[in-house]
Amino acid sequence: MDKYKVLIGLEMHCEISETNTKVFSSAANTYTDIPNSNIRPVDMGFPGTLPVVNKMAVEKALMASIALNCKQPEYIYFERKNYYYPDLPKGFQITQETKPAPVGIYGELKYEVNSEIKKVRINNIHLEEDAASSDHYSKYSTINYNRAGVPLLELVTYPDFRNADEAVAFLEAMRSIYQYAGISEADSRKGQIRCDVNVSIMDSSLDEAKEENWGTKVEIKNVNSFGGVRDAINYEIERQIELKRTGQYDSMEQQTRRWDEESMSTIYMRSKVDAIDYKYFVEPNIPKFKISSEWIEKIKSMIPVFALERKEKYINEYGLSNYDATILVKEKSISDFYDETIFLGADPKLSSNWMTTMVLGYLNKHELNISDIYLTPKMLVDIIKMIEEGKISSKQSKDVFYKVIEDEKEPSKVVSESGMKQIGDEDTIRKIVVEVIEAHLELIEDYRKGKNVFDFFVGQVMKATRGQANPGITARIIKEEIDKR
Ligand code: MN
Repeated sequence: MDKYKVLIGLEMHCEISETNTKVFSSAANTYTDIPNSNIRPVDMGFPGTLPVVNKMAVEKALMASIALNCKQPEYIYFERKNYYYPDLPKGFQITQETKPAPVGIYGELKYEVNSEIKKVRINNIHLEEDAASSDHYSKYSTINYNRAGVPLLELVTYPDFRNADEAVAFLEAMRSIYQYAGISEADSRKGQIRCDVNVSIMDSSLDEAKEENWGTKVEIKNVNSFGGVRDAINYEIERQIELKRTGQYDSMEQQTRRWDEESMSTIYMRSKVDAIDYKYFVEPNIPKFKISSEWIEKIKSMIPVFALERKEKYINEYGLSNYDATILVKEKSISDFYDETIFLGADPKLSSNWMTTMVLGYLNKHELNISDIYLTPKMLVDIIKMIEEGKISSKQSKDVFYKVIEDEKEPSKVVSESGMKQIGDEDTIRKIVVEVIEAHLELIEDYRKGKNVFDFFVGQVMKATRGQANPGITARIIKEEIDKR
C-alpha cells in the first residue's frame, strides 16, 4: 500500500429541499409518492415556456458557497448542457459549468476525521436543475418527472483525500452544513444526495505537486450512500494496485465506472476518450443579474454556527469531553435543544450528561426526534434545578423525566402529584443512619481495615427511605457516625 499514494476527489450532488418551489418553475419542491403529479410545462420542456429563477434557491446556493469559503461571482448566470435522455425532455440541463458562472469557486473546508482536523480544497459549487427519475423493469421503463427541476447543488473538490475515511468524513461534514444552514435535509434515503468519486494512484516516490505525475483518473458514478462511497473507494484502490502489480496499469484508459452494490465491485461503463461534448453556452432565457454586496452580507448574517465550531465551544467554554461534544452536535436539533438549556441557566456539564444519556437514550430507544416528545429545554432545566436544590433525589429525577414525557405533564406537576420529595432534614437522616450502622456493627472493623463498606451503608439508607434521602447529607452523616464509633 505504501508503495502508492492515493488521490481521491469527490463530486457531491445534493438537492436543495428547503425552498417552496422548484428552481425554474412554480411546481412545489416537495416529495410526493404520486408520479408525475408535481410538474409544470416548463419542467417538461414544452415549447414557449420560460424559466423563472427561484431567488430562494440562489440564496441557499450562495449560502453554501459562503460556508465553503468560496469566491462568489459578480453576476449570476446559467448555462445549457446539451444532451438528450428521456429524463431530460428539454434536451438540455440548465447548470453552471464554465468559470466564473458557478455560485462559488476556489474554496476550502476544514473537517474532522478520527479527531484530526483536515482541509479540502473546493474547485467549485454550482446550482443546477435535477433531472427526472427513471425506473427500469424487465419489459418497460417508467419516468417520473416530479424530480425534474428540483434545485440541485453540485460540489466539486480537488483530489485532496487520501483514503475512504477522509472522503466519508468530508461528506458527513457537508451533510451537517446543509442541515445546520437549512439548505437541505440531505437525506440519502430520499435520494437527495448522490456522489461521484474519482480515484487515482501514483508511485509514492513521485512528486504529487506535479499534476503530470498523477495516475490515470477513474471516475465512479452515482454512488448513493456514504457506505457505498467507502466501499467503492476501497475496491477501486485495490483494483488499480492489482493492475500495477500485473503490469496492466499503463494500458488502462481514463474511464467511467459504476458502483454495483450486489457484486460489491466497480463496473466499466465507458471510456473518457470518447467523452460527450455538451456544447455549453449561456442560457439565453435567463438574464444575467448582479449579486449585490448587501445581499451577500445579509446571507452571511443568516449562516448559523456550524457543528465543528459549536463543538469547539462546547469543549473550550463548557469543558465537555470531545466524545460528549461530538454526540451533541451530530444533529442540529439536539445541539439547539442543548444550547437552549444553557441559555435558560442549566449547568453545561449537568445538562450535557442529561442530554447524552437520558434524552438521547430515550430518543434512540423509541426512534424519535427531539421535536416528537413533550419535553422542552425549559422542562429539562426545571428537572436539573430541582435536583440541585435538593427537592428531589437524582434517582427520583429519572422517574420525573419519564413521567414528563409519557404523561405529558410539567415536571413540577409530576413531583407534586406523585408525592415525591427528598428528605433533607438532618435529624431524620441521622436517625436512619444510626439504625443502619447499629444493625451492622461488624462492618465498622472492615471499614477500618480499608474495606469499602461505605456504599453498603448508603444503599441501606436509600432502601429505608425509598431513595428519598439527600445523598450528600446522607454520605456526610454516615462518615460522622462511623468515626464516632
Ligand atoms: Mn451536475
